[in-house]
Amino acid sequence: MTTNPEALRSTDPQIAELVNAEEARQRDTLKLIASENYVSAAVLEASGTVLTNKYSEGYAGRRYYEGQQVIDQIETVAIDRAKALFGTDHANVQPYSGSPANLAVYLATAKPGDTVMGMALPMGGHLTHGWSVSATGTWFNAVHYNVRRDNGRIDMDEVRELALRERPTLIFCGGTAIPRTIDFPAFAEIAQEVGAVLVADIAHIAGLVAGGAHPSPVGYADIITTTTHKTLRGPRGAMILASEQYAKAIDKAVFPGLQGGPHNHTTAGIAVALAEAATPEFSEYAHQIVRNAQALADELQARGFELSSGGTDNHLLLMDVTSKGVTGKPLAKALDRAGLETNYNTVPYDPRKPFDPSGMRLGTAALTSRGMTEAQMREVARWIDQVVGALATEESDTLDKAIDQVRGEVNELTGRFPVPGLDR
Ligand SMILES: *Cc1c(COP(=O)(O)O)cnc(C)c1O
Repeated sequence: MTTNPEALRSTDPQIAELVNAEEARQRDTLKLIASENYVSAAVLEASGTVLTNKYSEGYAGRRYYEGQQVIDQIETVAIDRAKALFGTDHANVQPYSGSPANLAVYLATAKPGDTVMGMALPMGGHLTHGWSVSATGTWFNAVHYNVRRDNGRIDMDEVRELALRERPTLIFCGGTAIPRTIDFPAFAEIAQEVGAVLVADIAHIAGLVAGGAHPSPVGYADIITTTTHKTLRGPRGAMILASEQYAKAIDKAVFPGLQGGPHNHTTAGIAVALAEAATPEFSEYAHQIVRNAQALADELQARGFELSSGGTDNHLLLMDVTSKGVTGKPLAKALDRAGLETNYNTVPYDPRKPFDPSGMRLGTAALTSRGMTEAQMREVARWIDQVVGALATEESDTLDKAIDQVRGEVNELTGRFPVPGLDR
């Protein structure tokens, strides 16, 4: 390792202390947030290197600063690995994160005022798919599709009707709280019928796609965007993958359209994560994530929890907790005290407000990175049930006692499953 933990401690003990505290928190809690993960020690190391010292606006061989002998190679390796892993003609690994990556797609393919289409945020879509509070909803005429009330799945009839009526320039598929397989061929057919560019935003499921645990959008979507830090298990960053046809426009949109210099230390971390994701072990990991989510879903359902769409095909599940006499936010806070880190979330057609919605989102990618399997998922479901039961009594003593007990059991479990990148 080139970094020296002593340096931080002696230069800035305050921040060193806080980093240590966060390390301990990550080690001692169960990370059930569907968008988070633990990177490997190798990714962590690559991300914290002197590459952060270098400016490299432009692309390999066409930079605006000298001294790119090494950076050009690193970015080229990352691009080649991305193209090989996902099987696309083109990859841009410079977007700072998922939101700017999506913005680059708009810049590359649409004009302000154009009609764009995406899944509604409260149905599981993402802000950057044209939701009103996002720049994308301000600068474009955004229209949204929903999930069906009866089965919680994307209503492809509605998608087609809306697309035929509104003739969008862009159609986004993918989202942040979709527990089911995304039907890329069906979206592609609709996009083709109306002459729209289809964008598959696979931020959440990129690792599953890479590992063969979710169908790939390649060959169906014109452009694919993804974060690198969710199921893909890389550093915080993003990529845009596309066929040759969109390559130039995408690159121009990222730089100079939206960004300045790429974060080269992140690019190195992405390259390492992509190499890891190309291994048979990662494919096994991706499949285990899904098996774990299904085990968690089964046990929660057996305990009477109501799951949006009735289950999961991927790494996440969405549950409506109101039938248990509790709501999302106080439950998420109680679980956090018990060592289970989750997020409160709206469920489709939620009658409650986003600030204290009916639901909660759970994901299994991070726990699977710690080597946990179905048996641990059943324990997690039991602990959630226990905290929910105590919370529903509205007696603070009962809740405190349940939280203490669960916290103790969680500590015992986390002690047995080291965190990649932490417990060396
Ligand atoms: C997480 C996510 C993003 C945004 O990523 P950030 O890195 O948080 O900007 C975009 N789209 C989808 C579907 C996501 O889940």
